[in-house]
Amino acid sequence: MADNEFERRRQTVAAQLAERKLDGFLVSFSPNLRYLTGFTGSNGNLLLLPGEAILFTDPRYQIQAAQEVTCSVHISKGPLVPDIMAAVAKRRLRRIGYEPARMTCDTLDSLQGRLPMKSTLAPVNGWVEGLRMVKSADEIGLIRRSVETNSRAFESAVTKVRPGMKEQDLAAELEYRMRRLGAEKPSFETIVAGGARSALPHAQPTAARLATGQLVVVDMGALQDGYCSDMTRMLFLGTPTAKVKRAYRAVLEAQLAGVDAVRPGVSTARVDAAARNVLKAYGLAEAFVHSTGHGLGLEIHEPPRIGKKDKTKLAPGMAITIEPGVYIEGFGGIRIEDTVVVTETGCEILTPTPKTLRII
Ligand code: ZN
Ligand code: ZN
Repeated sequence: MADNEFERRRQTVAAQLAERKLDGFLVSFSPNLRYLTGFTGSNGNLLLLPGEAILFTDPRYQIQAAQEVTCSVHISKGPLVPDIMAAVAKRRLRRIGYEPARMTCDTLDSLQGRLPMKSTLAPVNGWVEGLRMVKSADEIGLIRRSVETNSRAFESAVTKVRPGMKEQDLAAELEYRMRRLGAEKPSFETIVAGGARSALPHAQPTAARLATGQLVVVDMGALQDGYCSDMTRMLFLGTPTAKVKRAYRAVLEAQLAGVDAVRPGVSTARVDAAARNVLKAYGLAEAFVHSTGHGLGLEIHEPPRIGKKDKTKLAPGMAITIEPGVYIEGFGGIRIEDTVVVTETGCEILTPTPKTLRII
């Protein structure tokens, strides 16, 4: 990411301080901190002011912060809060925004305990998250790379699948391969679940062995250069029954309908409805127990949500997943998920992996 991109983002936030009646904004949530500075350390706070930004961190990150960020850096020998509040007092800042959804009660207590007499703290929610929804060209490039790594890891690991393989061994294989291909780590805990367990939308891989006659769900994502990917594909060991084929067709049609509905100006609820209506026509509406998708970027789940009641209007540059699924107790589950980017005219599916049911 170009350094001036971080500066541009800070300027965007700083330019909105006055209309929010804030003298400063304290950013403590690490994905927001990374978005605004490029800092990847685990302990940091950014005090953003009109015309000035100060990153507070501790000596462990002195060298790293100097390499990663272009704003001023303050190294605190102890806890960060006293130094942040000293900066607030020195500049006579009155109203400081903070991120209540992203802060512990302990930190808030500590901030309030050291707040200068005439200063107040003002809760601000979703501000940076809102800016993060629309990705820059550089960010889309990073998401694309993460998606490609993820798909390559899937392709190379899937050749190892045989009846008798443990779910957790396949998960390990997928994660090993994504790392070998350049990922820092998985973007969430890899899901591999066979047979009836595939009906658990967030199944954790177990020592259970995959067996002939089973549906297997693989939901995986890479984290590469800080950016997430997310994909779900289905395997079948043996010959699928008519019931499996029908349910697979239903989910695939729903997924394609969801992708088809993605274009600028459309509400995320309409995308959700497009996928949901297909499953309804198949009599599977009740089996679709989650929303159709979510935004992703620095976090695996970030705004917007693609759900029944979500009113966000899609805009070019948003990166989202489209992932309808059906879950039937005792039978199994089927989900198909791609990562897509909203374009000027519709969307681009980033995920290159074919969406056919993999027969093994
Ligand atoms: Zn997923
Ligand atoms: Zn997802």
